[in-house]
Amino acid sequence: MSTNPARRDAISAIASQPRLKGTFDFRNEKIDVIFGQNVFSLEKMEKRLPKDVFKSLKANIESGTKLDGASADIVAAAIKDWALERGATHYAHVFYPLTGSTAEKHDTFFEPNGAGTLAQFSGKALVQAEPDASSFPNGGLRSTFEARGYTAWDVTSPAYIFDSENGSTLCIPTVFVSWKGEALDKKTPLLRSMAAVNKAATRVLALFGKKHGFISASCGPEQEYFLIDSRLYHLRPDIYTCGRALFGAKPAKGQEFEDQYFGTIPDRVLACMMETERECFKLGIPIKTRHNEVAPAQFEVAPIYESANVAHDHQMLTMTLLKRVAAQHGFVCLMAEKPFAGVNGSGKHVNWSIGGAGVGNLLEPGNDPHDNAQFLTFCTAVVRAVDLHQGLLRASVASAGNDHRLGANEAPPAIISIYLGDMLNEVIEQVKKSGSASSSRKGGHMTLGVDTLPVLPKDAGDRNRTSPFAFTGNKFEFRAVGSSFSVAGPLTVLNTIMADSLDKLADELAVAIKKNSNFNTALQSVLKEILTKHGRIIFNGNGYSEEWHKEAGKRGLKNLRTTPDALPEIVAKSTVDVFERQGVLSKAELESREEIYTHSYVLTVNTESKLVSEIGRTLLLPAALKFAADLTPVEKTKSGGKLRKEVIGLADDLHDALGALDAAREVSKSDTHAQAKHSCDKVLPAMLKVRAAADALEEIVADEYWPLPSYQELLFIR
Ligand code: ADP
Ligand code: MG
Repeated sequence: MSTNPARRDAISAIASQPRLKGTFDFRNEKIDVIFGQNVFSLEKMEKRLPKDVFKSLKANIESGTKLDGASADIVAAAIKDWALERGATHYAHVFYPLTGSTAEKHDTFFEPNGAGTLAQFSGKALVQAEPDASSFPNGGLRSTFEARGYTAWDVTSPAYIFDSENGSTLCIPTVFVSWKGEALDKKTPLLRSMAAVNKAATRVLALFGKKHGFISASCGPEQEYFLIDSRLYHLRPDIYTCGRALFGAKPAKGQEFEDQYFGTIPDRVLACMMETERECFKLGIPIKTRHNEVAPAQFEVAPIYESANVAHDHQMLTMTLLKRVAAQHGFVCLMAEKPFAGVNGSGKHVNWSIGGAGVGNLLEPGNDPHDNAQFLTFCTAVVRAVDLHQGLLRASVASAGNDHRLGANEAPPAIISIYLGDMLNEVIEQVKKSGSASSSRKGGHMTLGVDTLPVLPKDAGDRNRTSPFAFTGNKFEFRAVGSSFSVAGPLTVLNTIMADSLDKLADELAVAIKKNSNFNTALQSVLKEILTKHGRIIFNGNGYSEEWHKEAGKRGLKNLRTTPDALPEIVAKSTVDVFERQGVLSKAELESREEIYTHSYVLTVNTESKLVSEIGRTLLLPAALKFAADLTPVEKTKSGGKLRKEVIGLADDLHDALGALDAAREVSKSDTHAQAKHSCDKVLPAMLKVRAAADALEEIVADEYWPLPSYQELLFIR
């Protein structure tokens, strides 16, 4: 128990709180009954819409096209009736601006009509809205005099009702674009990239003679997060302002016991998780997994994978619900990538694959050699895409927060490489050598695609956790994504570079077939060439090791350590070319993104450094000096004198470090990129020096003087 009054009060409040009464019970409230009850699903549409309207809406959903005006009115009336029956009073277009968050503006259905009010909701209100969007970052795409971007219903993602304490809101997932049609959000490029994958994959599959439905990208995002008690959180201005601890000495007990991972979930946390899941189920989010993570107070939630655009919307909602339900349980949910230095940070593993009706998962090894030739073709396209655009992939996960995580010995390094696993790697090596693959077990050479490829065991077992991009049996897992990220950015990049790689492969294959007239020989030569050229990106060893950093350097792989190093990749020629070729983002749209993300980096470091200075000067230095002053009467004693000297010495260090930080903070560059570089190279190190002195003080200043809850308290008290 702390002897500092504020911390003591918080801790006794937590210790004496009555056990939270469950607000519901899954034994009475069946998941199969509540699942999707707040979603205006296809089944509900079918029940409530005239046959022809339903048919055309379904066609719109499948092709991702816009609804016509007359149908829109009918659909709007049906959605309104359903929403009113479920008690909704308001509706909102929900969109995903470039801040990476979720935005929404609510309007009520009810309008006065003389006698009273009447519930109104037109087709136009469903399909399109004009939020006052001038305050969203647009990176120069839209000057303020034409500030009105508009939101348009993304028919591929269903409308849903969001329940809150005092009422319910009908939410309509939308894209957010300028009047000129430029994407001002994260959803538009994601949808465009999915169309690109479909088109390119269709070309390749045609060469294999395959008939199939829409080829869609799928995503299953695993979300890591911390839960800490809100009473302690409110005593930490760094955490409630920046989402991460800017100070804090290493606790006596950290994660070294390794007793947390997959451990029994504490009751209070489990109650919070279950309620979050229940809210997710109501919204049709297929949550599957919950468990303790490696760090104390760290947990994970993961759904079953879905089509990438729906997975994106569901992931954003899951983050909202995690925070909201946590607050109802007296917790705060932290999604920063590295909330506590010295213990593991949080990532968001983005599991990704492509496939469709008729062909299944294209990244799944098949049951016969012909399927395996197709599987290898798609894998080879991934290898080329990731090698060519390794810098862009790194940029897609770049942020001030994630910089503290990437490269630490718990998260993948900033160097992008692909892990394939021994089995698949062996096959790839064979293809590279001979253009064919043989089973090492059976021996002998075989021709690709006929009767020959070894049957690849499914789930070929990836337990390598050090790779940023790992093949895990039937999908790739992009592990460098940060916990607070929207999955839209990384998914858009993956889809776009994959589409381009497939297009190239289709071109080359078509030429080779013309030359060889034999499909298998042609495929062999094309795959061999690509794998030889781009195989350097494959690495199956320990990504944390020193040797890998050296080896990666020799291979010429990029090591973009920080956000200012990585972000320029967004406007590199190779990026602009591929994004324009695939019709996903124009040069101007890419430039706006690069500018916004760079600016956001500067803002983050500015806020954090200002806070370090403020907390250091107004909370920590005074605490240390007060303690030193109170030691004056015992100055003559051996221990008192020694301690006082030590405290004053460290307080002077802290004072000097604060001076240096403020000097670094004052430097202002006119160019955002130069400012970002300065923030990275000068301000961040100066912050760390302040922290080092403060953390050293925390270890010797008497507990009652120290105003900030310790790591121990934050991570272990609940
Ligand atoms: P872990 O990585 O912890 O071993 P799992 O293998 O259970 O976890 O899967 C993690 C996530 O990957 C889940 O969200 C799961 O639904 C998703 N996933 C599984 N198959 C695919 C696929 N073909 N495409 C995309 N995501 C997938
Ligand atoms: Mg995983």
